[in-house]
Amino acid sequence: TKYVYSFDEGNKDMKSLLGGKGANLAEMTKIGLPVPPGFTISTEACNDYYVSNKTIKPEIVEQIEGKLAQLESDLGKKLGSIENPLLVSVRSGAVISMPGMMDTILNLGLNDNTVVGLAKATDNERFAYDSYRRFIQMFSDVAMEVPKYKFESVLDKYKDQNGFKFDTELTTEHLKAIVEEFKAIYKAEVKEDFPQEPKKQLMLAVEAVFRSWNNPRAIVYRKLNDIPNNLGTAVNVQSMVFGNMGDNSGTGVAFTRDPATGENKLLGEYLINAQGEDVVAGIRTPQKIATLENIMPDIYKQFVETADKLEKHYRDMQDIEFTIEKGKLFLLQTRNGKRTAKSAINVAVDLVNEGLITKEEAIMRVEPNQLDQLLHPKFEDKSLKEATVLAKGLPASPGAASGKIYFTADDVVEASKDGTETILVRQETSPEDIEGMVSAQGILTARGGMTSHAAVVARGMGKCCVAGCGQIKVSEVAKTIEVGDIVLKEGDYISLDGSTGKVYLGNVNKTNADMTGNFEKLMSWVDEIRQMNVRTNADNPRDAKAAVDFGAEGIGLCRTEHMFFDEDRIPAVRKMILSNTVEERVKALETLLPMQQKDFEDIYRVMGERPVNIRLLDPPLHEFLPQDDETIEELAKDMGIAPVVIKKRCEELAEFNPMLGHRGCRLAVTYPEIAVMQTKAIINAAITVNKEGLNVEPEIMIPLVGAINEFKTVKQIIVETADEVIKSAGVELKYTVGTMIEIPRACLIADEIAKEADFFSFGTNDLTQMTFGYSRDDAGKFLGEYVDREILEKDPFQVLDQEGVGKLVQMASKLARGVKGDKIKLGICGEHGGEPSSVEFCYNTGLNYVSCSPYRVPIARLAAARATI
Ligand code: ADP
Ligand code: MG
Ligand code: MG
Repeated sequence: TKYVYSFDEGNKDMKSLLGGKGANLAEMTKIGLPVPPGFTISTEACNDYYVSNKTIKPEIVEQIEGKLAQLESDLGKKLGSIENPLLVSVRSGAVISMPGMMDTILNLGLNDNTVVGLAKATDNERFAYDSYRRFIQMFSDVAMEVPKYKFESVLDKYKDQNGFKFDTELTTEHLKAIVEEFKAIYKAEVKEDFPQEPKKQLMLAVEAVFRSWNNPRAIVYRKLNDIPNNLGTAVNVQSMVFGNMGDNSGTGVAFTRDPATGENKLLGEYLINAQGEDVVAGIRTPQKIATLENIMPDIYKQFVETADKLEKHYRDMQDIEFTIEKGKLFLLQTRNGKRTAKSAINVAVDLVNEGLITKEEAIMRVEPNQLDQLLHPKFEDKSLKEATVLAKGLPASPGAASGKIYFTADDVVEASKDGTETILVRQETSPEDIEGMVSAQGILTARGGMTSHAAVVARGMGKCCVAGCGQIKVSEVAKTIEVGDIVLKEGDYISLDGSTGKVYLGNVNKTNADMTGNFEKLMSWVDEIRQMNVRTNADNPRDAKAAVDFGAEGIGLCRTEHMFFDEDRIPAVRKMILSNTVEERVKALETLLPMQQKDFEDIYRVMGERPVNIRLLDPPLHEFLPQDDETIEELAKDMGIAPVVIKKRCEELAEFNPMLGHRGCRLAVTYPEIAVMQTKAIINAAITVNKEGLNVEPEIMIPLVGAINEFKTVKQIIVETADEVIKSAGVELKYTVGTMIEIPRACLIADEIAKEADFFSFGTNDLTQMTFGYSRDDAGKFLGEYVDREILEKDPFQVLDQEGVGKLVQMASKLARGVKGDKIKLGICGEHGGEPSSVEFCYNTGLNYVSCSPYRVPIARLAAARATI
């Protein structure tokens, strides 16, 4: 097997073998861009390493040595040579890019002898020792896990002693002394001398990259981003170019368009006389890319042209890493840039307008879940004007966030557990902070630029972030922020505007998002291509209106129980439940009828001609019962009976397992009066609004059916009631009667039910609960651990379990279509209706619509369109 490829042997389509970085280095080489030569050790070699008990087998070692020899002869340099030493970087490169998660070693090949050779060859002794001290630190950290701070504190010591602010001020003599101290640290920590043999350094480094695939940060990142664990990482070994050779050298990163807004404008940062991670590490504050035009006009021009060429070549916004060595430009990496939802939409629509991609491609460029960022509130203009600006940093990742400040990832995680809104405040973030970043509403850092760790990771998560806020003094030890005279302590509220970089005191009010412009445009393409309808779950006019604004095409589930809790009617509901006789119950229900009818009229008016599916009362009655003595006494007075009677009735109604108890259609079977009242309300409301000029055809849904006679019995009650109401009103009105499919038995007899039902709506919340036998309300106690330990791949209440629950859905759909073909309408109304992978599944299963909460409607529309592409 071929395990090692020179850069000139690969191309961009070989990502799964060469990793993203390796494939793109090869592609850039192929199209003639200045890339320092090197080779890539494949992901197969990494997987082989794990299979071979964490050893690199001789065959692979041989291939590496072969490619190294070729590189040496191509460059006329030699690893370990004193006259003309070859130095290389060893860079990890996963198939899907994992920023900051894997580690890179630069300047490999240096030792006590080659450093002298390098100094001579470059006529720059300071540079040689600067490179050597960097190498020792990186090698120790990445390959040997010697903590970084041990080295940092030595550097700080030298800077402090000499009153220096920057690394660049250290002299050759300082650097030589630092190298000695670094080697001593290595020896103390590793109990061996720092390896002087360059080939040994190389093999240790390659192995370290393989190992880093399974470091805890990488594992957390993969989990967060749904990246499989078995892909493995490639290793790139690349000849070094040096940005730290003086003032005609430097290093930087740039995006071809703005990753926060999508604006078509080069956005980047660079540092003169610097190497590698200096730019992203936030040690010195980098310069804006545009200023390079003044310092090195030719290089700037070449870079702008190259960026443009890369963007056209890849037909997407690029994230580029480059280095300038003594006035010569080199490209070290390119990839499709990570971006916010806003940027993703703007870039995708712009690229269509520029003729570079198709509408379908544009739709595939925007991740449905990413839209969530745009659908959520922004700060209210008025409150924002009145708010006090505490400080201003870089607008690193847009959005509005308010929360209590905490200074460590652990504290944020702890505080967020009970739903407290938090902001993670750090000097600068590192990959260890990732879990805190997930839990926090927003992130504020004092140091670091637009490409710092915090900024990149926050944008990827769609999390609001203000970075590099130099005006604030963060003390992670005292847990305080200071700005001038103002001191904020742990737990104090602040608000962050990730689009302006402003930090506000206190909790600023928020308002709804704007969905015009390119968002509207993209969604219009989505609706052109989409074949499945998207409805919403809403049980009041406000949510229904919000959903229509988000593009909902109907209501797929209008629950009626929430309406019963309102203050003006809960007494009547309780009377109804506690009644001893049918007459009493009917009387209580008569009070409820006009209220319920008005509920439906209001909803129909908002929805206009769009279909509305109303479900009859579903929850166990005991949920409505009075809990405390005071309420019981009031109710007793009102009903003219003794409180003990009510208490006794409550005890009778109490259930051991209400979720599997007296609920759903079982209520309608035993208390038909309830179904009668609800049907009257639904039909009367439709008649009323139709007189106003609408043309409503109500869909009446019976919950929790498991036996065919349950359905038949309740359907008969509905039909008799409805027909009578319609007849006595002397009007024409069409309505349909169907059922939720949420009990496994209903799936098994779906053909029987389909004969009687006009529609099915898969209630996948209950269906998941009953298929797994997990109580939805208690599963939180173990599901987290189940997912962590990979007993289950995903929480089945969030992502539809296609293997099990999904199989039931498929089976029931097939049985139903077998009986009625297209004459039966099929939909889904569980939480899964707004989850992209579940939406795709529903499309493939042939459902007519998905129904989800209002905020997820655009996500479902996009996911439905993508499913057809
Ligand atoms: P990451 O995946 O974390 O971005 P990289 O492998 O891209 O890690 O390395 C980080 C940085 O190190 C690069 O952006 C570049 O500045 C520097 N670097 C890597 N390889 C070389 C090289 N051969 N010559 C000069 N600089 C390099
Ligand atoms: Mg990189
Ligand atoms: Mg249910």
